[in-house]
Amino acid sequence: MNYHVNQQGFYGEFGGAFIPEMLYPNVEELRQQYLDIIKTESFQEDYLKLLKDYVGRPTPLYFAKNLSKQYKTKIYLKREDLCHTGAHKINNTIGQILLAKRLGKNRIIAETGAGQHGVATATVCALMGLQCIVYMGEIDIQRQAPNVARMKMLGAEVRPATSGSKTLKDATNEAIRDWINNPIDTFYIIGSVVGPHPYPDMVARFQSIISEEIKKQLVEKEGTENPDYVIACVGGGSNAAGAFYHFLEDPNVNLIAVEAAGKGIDSGESAATSVLGKTGIIHGSKTLLMQTEDGQITEPYSISAGLDYPGVGPLHAHLFQSGRAVFMSATDDEAMLAGLNLCKQEGIIPAIESSHALAVLNQKQFKSDDIVVINLSGRGDKDLNTYINYFNL
Ligand SMILES: *Cc1c(COP(=O)(O)O)cnc(C)c1O
Repeated sequence: MNYHVNQQGFYGEFGGAFIPEMLYPNVEELRQQYLDIIKTESFQEDYLKLLKDYVGRPTPLYFAKNLSKQYKTKIYLKREDLCHTGAHKINNTIGQILLAKRLGKNRIIAETGAGQHGVATATVCALMGLQCIVYMGEIDIQRQAPNVARMKMLGAEVRPATSGSKTLKDATNEAIRDWINNPIDTFYIIGSVVGPHPYPDMVARFQSIISEEIKKQLVEKEGTENPDYVIACVGGGSNAAGAFYHFLEDPNVNLIAVEAAGKGIDSGESAATSVLGKTGIIHGSKTLLMQTEDGQITEPYSISAGLDYPGVGPLHAHLFQSGRAVFMSATDDEAMLAGLNLCKQEGIIPAIESSHALAVLNQKQFKSDDIVVINLSGRGDKDLNTYINYFNL
């Protein structure tokens, strides 16, 4: 079961590998080998063992009793916030570092925006004893000082991207430039279901452990594999891709993807890509993209650094266009209030990204016997300063 990606990496009209010629050998090496390697018994054994003993999987599927009472429906939280490093991102970096090792690569590069993917990459590099270089926009380095410190403590080198807007897309350009210059020994770990094929498919597979576990856990708790709804926030879309993965073929499972509306969809300060985006090419793939009339990428905005991305992964563009998933959005204010509500109701401080998924509870009426699974992609420790400033704590 997968997102029906074809050999060229297309999901319907979206996806592919639109890359400079000089990057072709690197991407082609990966494309030819990733499935064969991932499917071997030894890879699966190493991957699942690390997910269990290092990441702490399976993460609980927690029945949120108080929240369920408040919203008069059955709400389960998939606790990715309890993963080592505090979010789902480590599921993917564990998978990619094992792949890098099997391809004989000993130098790892990554790009990061808010620093969460950089930390997850630095973590697995420390674990495996591999050199780690993380590209990060100069402005993001200033804004996200704690994560820069974490990466350094974990032994990574953080290289500032000083061109353009000095944020994520510039860091990505630097990482790609590095990869072109170091094609033999370097593996590029991408942090979401974005980038040229095979990255979106590869990352979705590594995150699909989330829905695999949900199915098993629901059988224990509800006597059925399938919930009525799965809800997840979407930045690039990796936690949503993983939470939806094993439910795609079951039309009775409603999939809801939640984007960041920032200060409002029509405010000019938003990251609601499915509503505002048009088809374009970003990071080597064809997808929905926020852009100006003449095709320049628009700077996105969200209070949540992890959702502040101008595109979505191509598989989400396809889910949107085909109607298989419903796309909703939450503003900064709606997300912040939903996050605070979870703290008070359940004693769980969520990442602000995840709070966007929780905000759907205020926008949509569920039936009392609906089973609603919300993917709690991360914990709120990293967002404490934002919560403090927002609520004057
Ligand atoms: C990075 C991040 C996201 C957004 O990334 P996706 O690829 O869309 O999952 C969401 N939640 C948390 C906690 C994150 O760290």
